Amino acid sequence: SPVLMWFRSDLRIHDNTALAAAARQGPVLAVHLRFLPHWQRHGHGANQLDFRARGVAALHEALEGLGIPLLHRELDDFAEAPQALLAIARETEAKALHFNHEYPLDEQRRDRAVTAAFDAAGLRATGHHDAVAFAPGELRTGKGDYYGVFTPFAKAWHRQLTAARLALRDIPAPQARPSVNADPLPSMPELPDAPVAERFWPAGEAAAADRLERFLRFHGRYYQRQRDFPAIRGTSELSPYLALGMISHRQCLQAALTENDGALAEGDAGLVAWVNEFVWREFYQHVAHGFPQVCRHRAFQAHTEQLPWRDDEAGFVAWCKGQTGYPIVDAAMRQLVATGWMHNRLRMITAMFLAKHLLIDWRRGEAFFLRHLVDGEFAANNGGWQWAASTGTDAAPYFRIFNPATQSRRFDPDGLFLAEWLPELADLPAKARHDPPRDLLAGVDYPPPIVDHKAARARALDAFKGLTSN
Ligand code: FAD
Repeated sequence: SPVLMWFRSDLRIHDNTALAAAARQGPVLAVHLRFLPHWQRHGHGANQLDFRARGVAALHEALEGLGIPLLHRELDDFAEAPQALLAIARETEAKALHFNHEYPLDEQRRDRAVTAAFDAAGLRATGHHDAVAFAPGELRTGKGDYYGVFTPFAKAWHRQLTAARLALRDIPAPQARPSVNADPLPSMPELPDAPVAERFWPAGEAAAADRLERFLRFHGRYYQRQRDFPAIRGTSELSPYLALGMISHRQCLQAALTENDGALAEGDAGLVAWVNEFVWREFYQHVAHGFPQVCRHRAFQAHTEQLPWRDDEAGFVAWCKGQTGYPIVDAAMRQLVATGWMHNRLRMITAMFLAKHLLIDWRRGEAFFLRHLVDGEFAANNGGWQWAASTGTDAAPYFRIFNPATQSRRFDPDGLFLAEWLPELADLPAKARHDPPRDLLAGVDYPPPIVDHKAARARALDAFKGLTSN
């Protein structure tokens, strides 16, 4: 009898653990459930929903080439998953279902319900660990706890890594087409926002593989030197593809291994630094699983729940629109809204600006990011925000407050990124773009800073000093 493979954020046929397992068991029928309202309630916006829909279309085509039909269902809520999947199993006489785990709380709960429903019906649902080298819980501190600090986690990750963990999974051999027909893929309903142009993020495995190759050819070895400079585009820009599984971390790490003579932790400094980012990615997935309070909108460090966040709607709107009067913050926010992506250095700067300079609850920024990011991914986004707000793991010490103009001078020294996203400042001399003097702004449509850096810094320090356990 056929075996069901439920695709979620693993939209690829290459190196897919659950797909390979399903194909070993029998002819495969692929399933995709689209939970648009639920994903919107989780906070994802049009950019990622559209990218995902295009990724499913690309997957559909790839599966056709293997003789695997893709069945598609539209559901409102995760709670409907067990019944929908059981109905498909009944219709197709499938006895088994495979899927790759997703680690945030809600997804885990959904998958447990599916597994229990299959058990109760005498069928078998099997989850596989695929998105990470180590399943959450596999790496623990000497005391048996989940790691809450990155460096020891990374050490354990490297120490315990084996070749088998990164071995690429088999792609299924083409199969005789089962008698079940693929469903036509429904078009995307009208969403509240329009998605960014497709050309920024062409979907599918081929586009992802292309990016990986280009990155390794032109930037990999320079990664450490280039990664912090947004005007250079020296990072892989693979995050949307990793978030939806159009490429796997194993494919990326195998390619890095090949480039780096078989080593991950030593050798070329650029490639080693890039590999380290994958360890961060995995770290935050473990954190989301091991410290489920973060999935319930809680701070990782409970005492920071006492912070006196300001209710500043005008400040929040200025931040969202890129109208704070701090050019590096504004250029970054405009990049986010226009392209659905923001450079990592800028994510740190803008997040810290919201949480520290404006003292606005980081959760508002986290939600805004998730709504716009094509790579919006709960664990990395939450981890990044809590880091910036000094409420999380490895929290930046609370007194570390980036000076936006200093960051700008350091990481966009020629003001090129600023000129690209703030055309109104492009005619200013490059050196003046970071912190434009008032007189140069006469006749320029650009706002003065909404807060004074020194005063804002002092206010944030006071707020943190007021916390009982600091
Ligand atoms: P590269 O530099 O090429 O890195 C390779 C891959 O490693 C990335 O594609 C990504 O999958 C992973 N990675 C890199 N840096 C990190 C990191 N700090 N934490 C976790 N994984 C990382 N990343 C997301 O994928 N989704 C998010 O929603 C997200 N939100 C963030 C919010 C904030 C406030 C901050 C500070 C960071 C956030 N990041 C997020 C992490 C990081 O900014 C992006 O992964 C990175 O900018 C993606 O660009 P890239 O693909 O060129 O990365």
